[in-house]
Amino acid sequence: MNRIPHYINGKRIDSSLRTAPVFDPATGTQSAEVVLASAADVADAVQAARAALPGWRATGLIRRADVFFRLRHLLTERRDELAAIITAEHGKVLDDAAGEIARGIENVEFASGLTNLLKGEFSEQVSRGVDVHQVKQPVGVVGCVTPFNFPVMVPLWMVSSAIACGNTVVLKPSEKDPSAAVFLAELFSEAGLPDGVLNVVHGDQEAVEAIIDHDEVAAVSFVGSTPIAQTVYRRAADRGKRVQALGGAKNHMVVMPDADLDAAADAAVSAAYGSAGERCMAVSVLVAVGDIADELVGKVAERIATLRIGAGTDPNSEMGPLISAQARDRVAGYVAGAAAAGATVVVDGREARFDSAGYFIGVSLVDHVRPGMKVYDDEIFGPVLSVVRVGSYDEAVRLVNANEYGNGVALFTRDGKSAREFEFDIEVGMVGVNVPIPVPVGAYSFGGWKRSLFGDSHIYGPESVHFYTRSKVVTTRWPDASESQIHLGFPSNG
Ligand code: NAD
Repeated sequence: MNRIPHYINGKRIDSSLRTAPVFDPATGTQSAEVVLASAADVADAVQAARAALPGWRATGLIRRADVFFRLRHLLTERRDELAAIITAEHGKVLDDAAGEIARGIENVEFASGLTNLLKGEFSEQVSRGVDVHQVKQPVGVVGCVTPFNFPVMVPLWMVSSAIACGNTVVLKPSEKDPSAAVFLAELFSEAGLPDGVLNVVHGDQEAVEAIIDHDEVAAVSFVGSTPIAQTVYRRAADRGKRVQALGGAKNHMVVMPDADLDAAADAAVSAAYGSAGERCMAVSVLVAVGDIADELVGKVAERIATLRIGAGTDPNSEMGPLISAQARDRVAGYVAGAAAAGATVVVDGREARFDSAGYFIGVSLVDHVRPGMKVYDDEIFGPVLSVVRVGSYDEAVRLVNANEYGNGVALFTRDGKSAREFEFDIEVGMVGVNVPIPVPVGAYSFGGWKRSLFGDSHIYGPESVHFYTRSKVVTTRWPDASESQIHLGFPSNG
C-alpha cells in the first residue's frame, strides 16, 4: 500500500506508527494510507521550522520574492498533474481542481509582491531631532491546519503569505486528501525555498493539538468546520497565541422579484452543486422574494435534470462524488429529514443510481423550507439546495441576518438601489451582487462574520500581512554629546 509521508526539513519522512486510509471517492477503494503524526513527529517539524527561521527571516526580500515567482511558474507548468492528485483523493472534477489551483496561484502572485507589502512607516521629527519608524517583523513559526475541500487553494491562502512575511510553517492538511500538500511543499523546495521553511505533517486531532500546544508555535491559522474552529480558537487563545479560525457556512442567495430568473437559476445550480456542494462558499439556501418562487423552482428543477454526475476524471462529468461514504449518508439523511419535517422534496438525489461503489449521490432540491428544520439550520456540505419563500426584501434580510453563519451571500436583482441597501444591511463577510460565489480575488482578504470566523483577521490578502507580522515601533535620536543631560521627567515633545 502506498504510504503518504510527512515532509520535514526538505525530506519525506515516514516514521509514524499510526496511519489512516485514503480513498478514491469515485470507486470507494483505498488508494493509500497516510501516516498520522504523534506529538513527537510534530515536535520534529516545529524544530525544523524553528531552526530555519533565523536564516529565512534574514533572507533579502528580493530573494524571498524570487521563490514565489518560480513557484508560480512551476504551479502553472504542473497544473494538470496537481489537478489529477486533487481529483484522485477529493473526487472533484478535473476542471474544478484546475480552477482551485488557479485561485491558489493568485495567492502566490500576491505574496510575490512582498517587497511592497512589508513596507514600514516613518515619521521624521516627531520631536526635535527625534524620528519614529515602524517595521513589520515575522511572528515566528506558524501552524496551519486545513480542510479537505480545497487541498491546494486553502494551504496556499496561508503558507504563501506566512512565508512571504518571513515566517516558517508547519502545515497540517486534511488527512482525507493529503497528497497534494506534499506535492506543493516539494514544489516550494524546487522553487528555491530553503529546507525547514515549509514542513508538512499529516494527522488528526492529536497532531493539531500538538501544534497548538507547542511553545515554539507563535500563531495558528485554521480553516474547517465551525465546532472544530471554535475549539482550536479557544485552545490557541488560551495559550496566548495569535489565532484565526475560519469555520463553516450556510450561504443564502436572495432573488428579488425583478431579477433575471434564468440568470438566477443558472447561478443557483452552479453555486449549489459545483464541487458537490463541498465548498464553504456554496449556495445552500435560495431565498425567493415575492411571487417568483414557483417559476424559480421550476427553472432550477429543469436545469438539474441535465446535470452529469460521474467520476471526476471523466471529462463529461460536471459533478463528482462526495468525499466519503459517511458524507454521502449524512446528506441522504438531511433529505429524508426534510421530507419528514414537512418540506417538499422537488428533486430527490437519493433516487439517482450509479454503477459504481463510489460515494455518489444525486443533487436535491427542497422547497418550502423554514428555519427550525435541520435541512435549514445545519451546514450540510453536500448537493442539497433549500428554497425558503419570503414575502419581502426586509424579510429576506432578517432571515439572513438571523442565521448563525455569515460567510457569503448573494443578491440577484436589476435594481441598483436594492443592491446598495443590501450591501449596507447584510451581516455577512462576503457579498455578491448578481455573482453567485463572491470569493474575493487575491488582492482582497477572505473571511466570514459570526460563527464563520473566530478571530479578527480575515485570511490571505492584506489582512494576512497584518496577521503574520508583528509591528515594532522604533524611536531614534542622534544627539551631540553637548545635548546629553539627566532629566527625570516624563519625555515631552520639543
Ligand atoms: P474539519 O473541521 O473536519 O477538519 C478541518 C481540519 O481540522 C482537518 O485538518 C482535520 O484533520 C482537523 N481536525 C478534525 N477534527 C479535529 C479536532 N477534533 N481537533 C482538532 N483538529 C481537528 O473540516 P473538513 O470536513 O475537513 O472541511 C469542511 C469544513 O470546512 C466545512 O465546514 C466548510 O464550510 C469549512 N470550510 C470553511 C472555509 C472558510 O473559508 N470559512 C473554507 C473551506 C472549508
